[in-house]
Amino acid sequence: MNTLPSLFVSHGAPSYALEPGLAGAQLGALGRALPRPRAVLVVSPHWMTHQAAVATSPRPATIHDFGGFAPALYDLAYPAPGEPALAGRALALLQAEGWNARADAQRGLDHGAWVPLMHLFPQADVPAFQVSLPARLQAQAAFDFGRALAPLAAEGVLIVGSGSLTHNLYEFREHHAGEAGYAVAFTEWVREAVQTGDVARLVHTLERAPHAQRAHPTAEHFLPLLVALGAAPAALPATVLPGGVVHGVLSMESYVFGEAIALEPVAALETA
Ligand code: ZN
Repeated sequence: MNTLPSLFVSHGAPSYALEPGLAGAQLGALGRALPRPRAVLVVSPHWMTHQAAVATSPRPATIHDFGGFAPALYDLAYPAPGEPALAGRALALLQAEGWNARADAQRGLDHGAWVPLMHLFPQADVPAFQVSLPARLQAQAAFDFGRALAPLAAEGVLIVGSGSLTHNLYEFREHHAGEAGYAVAFTEWVREAVQTGDVARLVHTLERAPHAQRAHPTAEHFLPLLVALGAAPAALPATVLPGGVVHGVLSMESYVFGEAIALEPVAALETA
């Protein structure tokens, strides 16, 4: 089996589940283009723990960890099975690299995982499990965390860091068609670093990129990009999945690290 690339995905707002747009169409095309993984491992900032944790449930529940959104969102479920054996393997790899990791047999899938997975694997037929994002992780440590998980990519696991390329919820507007200039500028800076495989620049994004403080008042939605980068077989080639900016300020751009994938042309999907 060939080593799988890794994926950074912008998971947007929970409403992304029902409003796939361009980003959802791109993820759907990606899911059809990738060889079918044995499982997908997701690191999401909506599961942060003091020490790393790995979800080992064979039937992870769909967690509706948000408030104030459309009632239809709370009826959605993503019934993919878990993968306890591969989750155990992830746990062992983390421990072997010195991470004080533990198993969590109860944890389900948070919206940072199941919302993009609905678009990537809509049949929910690829087993899915999460690894928590350790709290207070620095940028280099986030990269190293992904590196520790990287051997799984050679064993048929698609490693996904789920975050948001820009994430300033103070400026979030539910109905907003424009694109904030700073979100576009930040996205372009990161995209150039991705396309040139500049790992050092990416690790230092939050110190060096234009408008970094405004794009990420806190780091947790950026760090999954570094986890995915660390988990990749190589930084290049990389594939850019453009997604535009939604709600005025949320960049929906996503990246595949370690493989150039020619996606079928897609148009933005309409709201369900
Ligand atoms: Zn989020």
